[in-house]
Amino acid sequence: MMEKITPNRIDEIISAEIPDIEIDKDLHDIVSKSMIHGPCGSLNNNSLCVSDGKCTKRYPRDLLAETITGNDGYPLYRRRSTEVG
Ligand SMILES: [Zn+2]
Repeated sequence: MMEKITPNRIDEIISAEIPDIEIDKDLHDIVSKSMIHGPCGSLNNNSLCVSDGKCTKRYPRDLLAETITGNDGYPLYRRRSTEVG
C-alpha cells in the first residue's frame, strides 16, 4: 500500500495559485500567460472547452482555503481569494 500524500506535501510541490509579483515577477508572468484557463462559459461561449454554456473542465473552480485530498485520488488545490478579508 502506498502512503496517502498529505495536503502539506502537495502544497510544497504544486500550487494552483498565481505567484506573488513582488516575490517572483518572472514566475508570475509565466503563470499569468500560460497557466490560466479561460475566460470561458458566460464570459466566452466560443471557448473550445464550453459545452451547453458550461466549461467542461469545471472552471472557474471554487475558492479553497486549504488543499484537500479527494476520495478519487485527485487533490483539490488551495485557491485563496486575492481580496483582503
Ligand atoms: Zn473552460
